[in-house]
Amino acid sequence: MEPNQNNWLRTNWIEKGTAQRIFVELKFTLRDCNSLPGVVGTCKETFNLYYQETDSEMGRSLRENQYVKIDTIAADESFTQGDLGERKMKLNTEVRIIGPLSRRGFYLAFQDVGACIALVSVKVYYKKCWSIIENLATFPDTVTGSEFSSLVEVEGACVSDAEEEAENSPKMHCSAEGEWLVPIGKCICRAGFHQKGDACEPCGRGFYKSSSQDLQCSRCPAHSFNDREGSWRCDCEDGYYRALSDPPSVACTRPPSAPQNLVYNINQTTVSLEWSLPADTGGRNDVTYRVICRRCSWEPEECVPCGPNVGYSPAQSGLVDTYVSIVDLLAHANYTFEVEAVNGVSDLSRTQRLFAAVSIATGQAAPSQVSEVIKEKVQQRSIQLSWQEPQQPNGVITEYEIKYYEKDQKDRVYSTVRSKSTSATVNNLKPSTAYVFQIRAFTEAGYGTYGPRLEITTKEEATAAIVSSEQNPVIIIAVVAVAGTIILVFMVFGFIIGRRHCGYSKADQEGDEELYFQFKFPGTKTYIDPETYEDPNRAVHQFAKELDASCIKIERVIGAGEFGEVCSGRLKLPGKRDASVAIKTLKVGYTEKQRRDFLCEASIMGQFDHPNVVHLEGVVTRGKPVMIVIEYMENGSLDGFLRKHDGQFTVIQLVGMLRGIAAGMRYLSDMGYVHRDLAARNILVNSNLVCKVSDFGLSRVIDDDPEAVYTTTGGKIPVRWTAPEAIQYRKFTSASDVWSYGIVMWEVMSYGERPYWDMSNQDVIKAIEEGYRLPAPMDCPPGLHQLMLDCWQKDRAERPKFDQIVGILDKMIRNPNTLKTPAGTCTRPISPLLDQSTPDFTAFRSVGEWLEAIKMERYRDNFTAAGYSSLESVARMSIEDVMSLGITLVGHQKKIMSSIQTMRAQMLHLHGTGVQV
Ligand code: AMP
Repeated sequence: MEPNQNNWLRTNWIEKGTAQRIFVELKFTLRDCNSLPGVVGTCKETFNLYYQETDSEMGRSLRENQYVKIDTIAADESFTQGDLGERKMKLNTEVRIIGPLSRRGFYLAFQDVGACIALVSVKVYYKKCWSIIENLATFPDTVTGSEFSSLVEVEGACVSDAEEEAENSPKMHCSAEGEWLVPIGKCICRAGFHQKGDACEPCGRGFYKSSSQDLQCSRCPAHSFNDREGSWRCDCEDGYYRALSDPPSVACTRPPSAPQNLVYNINQTTVSLEWSLPADTGGRNDVTYRVICRRCSWEPEECVPCGPNVGYSPAQSGLVDTYVSIVDLLAHANYTFEVEAVNGVSDLSRTQRLFAAVSIATGQAAPSQVSEVIKEKVQQRSIQLSWQEPQQPNGVITEYEIKYYEKDQKDRVYSTVRSKSTSATVNNLKPSTAYVFQIRAFTEAGYGTYGPRLEITTKEEATAAIVSSEQNPVIIIAVVAVAGTIILVFMVFGFIIGRRHCGYSKADQEGDEELYFQFKFPGTKTYIDPETYEDPNRAVHQFAKELDASCIKIERVIGAGEFGEVCSGRLKLPGKRDASVAIKTLKVGYTEKQRRDFLCEASIMGQFDHPNVVHLEGVVTRGKPVMIVIEYMENGSLDGFLRKHDGQFTVIQLVGMLRGIAAGMRYLSDMGYVHRDLAARNILVNSNLVCKVSDFGLSRVIDDDPEAVYTTTGGKIPVRWTAPEAIQYRKFTSASDVWSYGIVMWEVMSYGERPYWDMSNQDVIKAIEEGYRLPAPMDCPPGLHQLMLDCWQKDRAERPKFDQIVGILDKMIRNPNTLKTPAGTCTRPISPLLDQSTPDFTAFRSVGEWLEAIKMERYRDNFTAAGYSSLESVARMSIEDVMSLGITLVGHQKKIMSSIQTMRAQMLHLHGTGVQV
């Protein structure tokens, strides 16, 4: 009953250990001041909670003003004298969070300034993610981070007999709520071991696993065995082998048996052999054959290898087919041929060679070619030649025949000369004339074949006049004619090809564009890349209207663009109402390239005409500064707008925005334009909440977007918004725009949350590759999340088209029931003013909890100070009451009031009792 109460209660010093964020749960009872007579002005219904961080115990040396206030705590349920009689003590539970903490420990203190209160329990705790095994990696107990939104990245350690998958070390993220999120990478059982539950077990006897990449142990293949556990391969049985290139998974094999049915055929000095397959290929299909040739003396039989003069067709070894011809054998000689079958393990085996063999005597044969001919002496009318005996005379050479003819003579009359030795002189030739010579040898068996042609020109006669190399008029005409034809052909083809490709060859630019459209896509307008214009000024004036600078009034600067300031202002065109516009200016001292890039955005934007694509009013290029004038979008970019109005829209409103963006993108993709940088920051919002796609320009992704980072494939890419195929191999298509659209959906439904939070770009790429996708934002209807997941299909052909997306969103808007969040999935009750699926207000236990749910917790102290400690008392409030709390923002007043009305309606429905206002 005494005024100015100030009673303190302090805990012992609490060591915080590794915790960074501490939860304090208080249970207490509190007496209703109304039930205590005579205490008006002194009785309170709240108490204060404080803390003080210190590195050690401070004894009693801390002063009151050193404590930091955590909160004023009010009871949701106070009790009265009557309750006391009935022994109904209503226990209140309140939880507060402190952190990040930086000292070794802290004290908690409670200040009672006149409340009748009993503090029943104080529970102080922190959260951690408990040690788990995931993907064969152990993650230790991990204390959560210091902030509500921070994820703690934890490296996993592979369980025994497991190893990290190449370049994919296991990681997980511990959330502030003590839950493990976003597993990336994994461990796999090493060779010889397979996974059983969360461990790796050795392969049993008779089984093996050759690599960590294999999932299961396999039974030993045929003709192999092992009697150890944990083997990475099996050993071959005796007599069986594995070739070096054989993987452990194939059966052990042995050399083949000998070829069968070897037969031969002799033609003078050529022998053909043929055989059939061996009875046993040894279990392999790489059987080839090799031939061994030996020449034997008649008596006593003694054989030597045939040597290099013998030819084999197609080859001596490595034969795939079952035949071979052996040529250039000696006439009248004895040979044996062995044909052996070999396979990939023949060289490993030490068992005896198995082959089929035949002995053959060759017959009579003509001599082989005379090949090495030398010109000994060349004169005006005679030529002297010499040569070597052929390599295989196959008998005694009795004569050589020299055949020759004049090279340029049309009817080729041969002459011959004979010689018993290996040289000859040919006479009676013409001077300065080219002759062709060929020589062959003769034995008892007949003539051999002619040797190669040899061309020799006789000497000039000393008196002969030198003929000048006068140009032949016929040749000149022919050359000119051929060159002319080639040029003509190129011109005709070049014209056709050039027209097909772009339709904008420099020569035929003027006025041809319309023709081009009709030719390519009848009826559909197509986006034209301004880069295809040789002269950028022409592109700008093709697509953008030149405005008179006097029609534009610049009012104020609203932002900074890549090329200069962005201002707002007004545009007054003759005969039209003036309009709000945004004016992008090109800073002074620009280079020609900067001017071109700056105006490029106008050349692109000017081609579009759609309510969900930012509209270009025109350009000023003939004055300074150079300007681009665009319709004014009062609410600026969508990401900032959503963050500013966190939680303030209905699901229908959000879906309406998404529908607009999808319609804009449908239009752009129909025009054949790929945006490449679709993100909430590049959507502008006007005063009617209409969203419009913006930020066009050829180099925009590279120069303009702070989110873009260099990737390994070269080029800068806004990783979090970009489809994997575009990151990996720069495949930008409307389907990759659909992926980005899915991310925009997520940004919108989470009111501008950063996609993938504070994960690194590298981790995002990895997580996506492994199939991880962003979870549904809080309170996001499952149908919308499913649509996002469809946009994030790995296979881009599986993603919906913008046309389908617009259809799906339209359907949802027509049937708002489909947008309801199913009960139980809500992690955050959304503001009742805004959501179609109103949460159950009677479920809130305190005024604090309710304010938190409608994101108005900043006014908690205002409610407490004014004595609104129960939801019942809040439900009775009028708009004046709300204003009297000191809540001055009209939007907040409306939000709170609307929530109170819903609460009131629910209470009426639940209890059947009205609340008087
Ligand atoms: P930008 O160079 O297009 O990224 O523009 C820079 C900034 O200017 C943007 O982030 C917007 O805040 C603002 N801005 C650009 N265009 C408009 C517009 N049409 N209406 C209102 N604000 C705009």
